[in-house]
Amino acid sequence: MPKEQQVYAYSAVLMGSPILLKLFEHNDALARQVFRLIKHQENLLTANRSPSEVMNISLAAGVRPVRVNPSVLELVRIAKSVSLLPGSLFNLTIGPLVKCWKIGFHGNRVPSEEELQSRLSLCNPHDVLLDDIAQTVFLAKTGMEIDLGAIAKGYIADCVQAFLRQKGVSNALINLGGNVQTLGKPPGATGWLIGLRKPFAASDELVGIIEVTNRSVVTSGIYERFLEQDGQIYHHILDANTGYPLDNELLSVTIISERSIDGDIYTTLFYGMGMKKSIDYLSDLPDIEAIFITRDKQVICSSQHHFRFTLLDHGFHQR
Ligand code: ADP
Ligand code: MG
Repeated sequence: MPKEQQVYAYSAVLMGSPILLKLFEHNDALARQVFRLIKHQENLLTANRSPSEVMNISLAAGVRPVRVNPSVLELVRIAKSVSLLPGSLFNLTIGPLVKCWKIGFHGNRVPSEEELQSRLSLCNPHDVLLDDIAQTVFLAKTGMEIDLGAIAKGYIADCVQAFLRQKGVSNALINLGGNVQTLGKPPGATGWLIGLRKPFAASDELVGIIEVTNRSVVTSGIYERFLEQDGQIYHHILDANTGYPLDNELLSVTIISERSIDGDIYTTLFYGMGMKKSIDYLSDLPDIEAIFITRDKQVICSSQHHFRFTLLDHGFHQR
């Protein structure tokens, strides 16, 4: 067996998340460039503080179109088109509801029914108007807010992968607060081993291990950020039809795909669809694969062409 090569891990906290970069060479300068690239993208895309291009769009809602960077325009276009898919609960205009709940942030609380109702009309993806010639985005109603929180990390993880490739790196891993994107595999190993977390347990407790090469692994779980009040758990993926967190049989959805942005899109989309519909949907998408964990402790892989899953916690049943 070939000798395993030394791994160099670089970490930072950006976008409110722990970021981990693994390389197989000692290269501080390259790691710094990667973190700078992430910071740059975060500054364009954040919905949590000004100035950012996304904040500028929201601040001008109902008033005027805002000219943006081509990559921001592209990401808004992608988010709008996913939001308009038939039956989609993905919604790029979920901002007013996210700000109401503040789940995962200081001051989180259960809003009143009236408060939520009053914001629903501000969450219509049709009211996001793009102008390709002028390169602008216009939100038609005052009070609307774009939130790219569900896809920004995936998009940035893909940017990091492209950057590393361009620098001639062939084996590396970037973990952006749970969005994992990989290049190749560790030299001498059969693939990258990525833990699938046990819902509502300590972060080092795993349900199983996912092994991949050259693939992204993204998990969206309702245990990641939530608010508990009066014995009820309110998590961070919201339904713009009701104003409340989405509710179904799923505890988490993991997507294994080439592009991390796809992982991000489909985790949120599938969380909204529930398991059965999602598995039907995947039959037309051979390059996108999923692992679902349900409330009744089942672990379901849609297929396993591009990864291998090993169950570790036998309190869960794989089928
Ligand atoms: P994370 O990996 O940070 O836990 P996810 O990728 O699961 O996040 O996306 C959750 C985030 O997406 C929320 O924090 C919020 O900003 C945004 N969001 C919440 N509900 C929706 C929705 N229905 N459609 C699109 N984005 C949403
Ligand atoms: Mg996501």
